[in-house]
Amino acid sequence: MKKINSIRGMHDVFGKEYQKREYVKKVFIKLLELNSYIPISTPVLEYSDVFVRSLGTGSDVVMKEMYTFEDKSNELLTLRPEGTASIARAIISNGLTQKLPLKLYYIGPMFRYERPQKGRYREFNQIGIEFFGNGRFYEDWEVVNLAFKFLKNLKIHNGLSLRINTLGTSDERYNYIDAIKKYFTSNYTILSSDSKKRLERNPLRILDSKNEQDIQLINQAPVIYEFLKKEDLDAFEKLKDMLTKFNIPFYQDPFLVRGLDYYNGTTFEFTQKDNKNFTVLAGGRYDNLVKELGGHKVPGVGWAAGIERLVSLSEIVLEDDKIITIAPLKNEFLEICLKISNLLIAAEVKLELLYMFDLKKCLSYSNKVNASHIIIVGETEAKNSKPSIKNLISGKQESIDIDKLSSYFK
Ligand code: ATP
Ligand code: MG
Repeated sequence: MKKINSIRGMHDVFGKEYQKREYVKKVFIKLLELNSYIPISTPVLEYSDVFVRSLGTGSDVVMKEMYTFEDKSNELLTLRPEGTASIARAIISNGLTQKLPLKLYYIGPMFRYERPQKGRYREFNQIGIEFFGNGRFYEDWEVVNLAFKFLKNLKIHNGLSLRINTLGTSDERYNYIDAIKKYFTSNYTILSSDSKKRLERNPLRILDSKNEQDIQLINQAPVIYEFLKKEDLDAFEKLKDMLTKFNIPFYQDPFLVRGLDYYNGTTFEFTQKDNKNFTVLAGGRYDNLVKELGGHKVPGVGWAAGIERLVSLSEIVLEDDKIITIAPLKNEFLEICLKISNLLIAAEVKLELLYMFDLKKCLSYSNKVNASHIIIVGETEAKNSKPSIKNLISGKQESIDIDKLSSYFK
C-alpha cells in the first residue's frame, strides 16, 4: 500500500529535538512565573474574523498565509496564525478586561501557509507574552526587558541584535502612510509584485518587504519620526533611556513596521546578528486591538518567539536523567522485579524494567542507555529476596534487602 506522509511543512517531533523544545519552554515558564505572569491557553481554531479584523486585510498573513476553511455548519474558521488576536478575543469573551493590569503568557502551535524552508514551517510553535495595562512606556520596557532576559537565559543574546522603532498613533501614521504612498508610487515600476499589491492595500507593509530591490528603495524612503507627535517621541526616548541604563544594546530602525496592522507605538525585533531576515522574537504595542475586536479600549504590548528558531540557535546541553535498570534473569523472577519496580517508582527513582531475561543483553542495553546501576535478580537473589546491585560506573556489585532499596537509591 502507498505510504502516507505528513503534510508539507508540518513535522513529527521526538527525541533530542523534542527535549530541546521542552527545555526552551521550561526556561520561558520559569522566567514568566517569577515575574507574576499567568498562563493562558486559547483554542487553535477561531472564527476567521478574529484574525481578519485585527491583523488587517493587507497583512501577508491574511493575504496569503492563513489556513481558512468552512466547517460543516458553514462557519468560516481559521487555524490561528499567531497568538495575540486570540488572546485579545479571549480577554473580551471572559470579561478579563476589567482586571488590569493583566500579564499573560502562552505556548502553542501556530499555522501559516508559507513556503517551507529552514526555520519556516507551516505548523510551528510560539511562546509569547501580553501585558494589558495603561499604555505607558514602562510597560514597553518591561516586555522588552523580559525578552532580553529570556534570550540571555537561553544564552543566545550575544548572537542577536535588538531593533526598535515607534509607529505613533494611527492619526499620525495616516500622514506618514500618505508620504510613503507618494514615494513608492513615484518608484512604482521597480517595486516587487508583492509590494505593488501592498501599495494599494497597505503601503506601510512595503517597509517590511524582504525583496532586495525593495530594500534599496526603502533605505531612501521618508522616515516616520518627522510625522510623530512630541509625546510619542518622548515616550520612545524614555524607552531608549531605560534600555541604555540597563545595558540592553539596541539599534533604532526607522523602517521597522512589523507585519501586522494592529501595532502602534513601540515595535521591536530580535534578529540574528548576521542575518537580519532571521527574526527570532518580535513584538510591539497594540493599543486599539481589544477595541477593534469589540471590547473596551485596553492598551497592550507583547511579543512572540518561535520555539523552533530558538532551538536552532541555542546550544542546549541536555542533561541525562539518572536511570537504573532492573534485570530479571528468567521469566519466573519477573514478579519480584515488578515489586522492586513499584517500590522504586513510589520513591521517584527513574528506572526501566528489562524484559530480556539474559544478563549479557541486559548489561549491554544498560550501558547503551547510560544507566548508573543495574538490579539483577537470578536464582539466589530471588530465593533470599536480596537482589544484586551493580554500579555500572565503578563496577562494584553488592546484595541489598528489597526493603532497603529505596533508601539506597535516594
Ligand atoms: P518572518 O519575518 O520571519 O516571516 P514574522 O514577522 O512573520 O516573521 P511574527 O508573526 O512576528 O513573525 O512571529 C513571531 C516569531 O514566530 C518569529 O520571530 C519567528 O521566530 C516565529 N515564526 C513566524 N513564522 C514562522 C514560521 N513559518 N515557522 C517558524 N517560525 C515562525
Ligand atoms: Mg512571516
